[in-house]
Amino acid sequence: MATFLFDEIIFGPVKSRRLGVSLGVNLLPEDYKFCTYDCLYCECGWTLNSNKKINLHSRQEIKETLDAKLQEMLANNEAPDNITFAGNGEPTIHPAFAEIIDDTLELKDKYFPKAQISVLSNATQIHKQSVITALNKVDKNILKLDSAVDETFKIINQPKTPITVAKLVERLKVFRGNLIIQTMFIKGEYKGVAFDNTTDYEVEKWLELIQEIKPKEVMIYPIARDTPLDSLRKISEKRLNEIGAKVGELGIKINVYN
Ligand code: SF4
Repeated sequence: MATFLFDEIIFGPVKSRRLGVSLGVNLLPEDYKFCTYDCLYCECGWTLNSNKKINLHSRQEIKETLDAKLQEMLANNEAPDNITFAGNGEPTIHPAFAEIIDDTLELKDKYFPKAQISVLSNATQIHKQSVITALNKVDKNILKLDSAVDETFKIINQPKTPITVAKLVERLKVFRGNLIIQTMFIKGEYKGVAFDNTTDYEVEKWLELIQEIKPKEVMIYPIARDTPLDSLRKISEKRLNEIGAKVGELGIKINVYN
């Protein structure tokens, strides 16, 4: 199916299901998706050669581009609800990620102090103290956990580095609740292997980890856009609501994006 890449450093603002009027920041190349995962549902398409040398924009260039966009939005009386780090891959890979977050906080306070800063991340870089510190400064530290079962995690997210669910969870707990867990619920078949993270067993194991991580919020959603793999199936609204209700029973804030 048709996937797409963001062709600029700053994109939008767009109306987001989860984040309202969202001004996007893409820290990755415009012509190339770069990620430590290769999720079967990624709207940017497949992660290609991870050994390719990538050219990233400098911290200064990103700051100047964001400054110019926020000035323009202020002049047009167009306030963003969120300045959102997403784009063509994993934003925390950028070596100046922590400094870029500091610049963004400064610019937000200058132009739109009521706006929030959100980061959508796959959590693979949270072994770095600079990334943890930066994520603790943003309003919405949204980290991915798609399955509690290693086999399913490896199929859905296709990690490019040797990481396990247990290791991920250990790292997620470092935030002491200052995080939002995002989970894509999905089923399908990949290279002849069927997978489904919505079975009773999968959901039970995932809920155990949610209890352990104690996030301040959980966001769950089904596929909503084109994906690189045609055999994925959208799960029903009913099943997603059932899973959401189970999170609510734990006393954790839940947002279901059907
Ligand atoms: S973590 Fe995000 S950017 Fe990376 S492959 Fe998965 S969906 Fe795409």
